[in-house]
Amino acid sequence: MSHLLRRAGLVVAVVTAAAGLSLTAPRADAVAPETVVREVAAPRSAALDLARQVRERQQTLATLNRQADARDRALLGRQAVLATYGYVGDPDAARVVLPLASYGISAGFGLTGPLWEAEHGGQDFSASAGEPLVAVAAGEVTDVAYAGPYGLRTILTLPDGTEVWYCHQTDVSVQVGQLVDVAEAIGTVGSTGNSTGPHLHLEVRPDGGDPVDPLEWLVEAGLTP
Ligand SMILES: [Zn+2]
Repeated sequence: MSHLLRRAGLVVAVVTAAAGLSLTAPRADAVAPETVVREVAAPRSAALDLARQVRERQQTLATLNRQADARDRALLGRQAVLATYGYVGDPDAARVVLPLASYGISAGFGLTGPLWEAEHGGQDFSASAGEPLVAVAAGEVTDVAYAGPYGLRTILTLPDGTEVWYCHQTDVSVQVGQLVDVAEAIGTVGSTGNSTGPHLHLEVRPDGGDPVDPLEWLVEAGLTP
């Protein structure tokens, strides 16, 4: 008898707690056990249903929070990567970045001299051998080959037809036909071909034609090389 009473009182306490109400469990010895069981029987399922709904909503919110956190972290990570390559702003709006994170500006576009057969058709960025090179913009890798004085060269063709040449590389991590995203690693700085030390010789050729000044092209894209 007293065992049943304690159980009945406990059920009431559990149900009221689950329903989020501030009722206190009735004193078990003040109510006949039949009454308690009857009173509890109906609200019990409704209260448990409510508790289940609350729990499900909490789980949904927790899932949404986790997803938002993950996206924030991914965006911050992406933002940090893009900032390394000179782009500051909304990661989703990034179109052009610098080809290297760490470099020195060396021989400029259009120079003439004993090092070049004709005018210097690109911009040289001095950098450590093995320094990662990244795609300055999203595009397709259209050539990877040793190209005489250019050494190991990767050509990235942008959607508007502009060719971007990366020359004197040590390693290439992309293949012809591969689509790359802006700031995606494509290879490393080297000194292959006609080169006196590790550096990137970058060429920008609108429509695959004559080269233009890569620094001006980068500046026009909003960067500060
Ligand atoms: Zn050069």
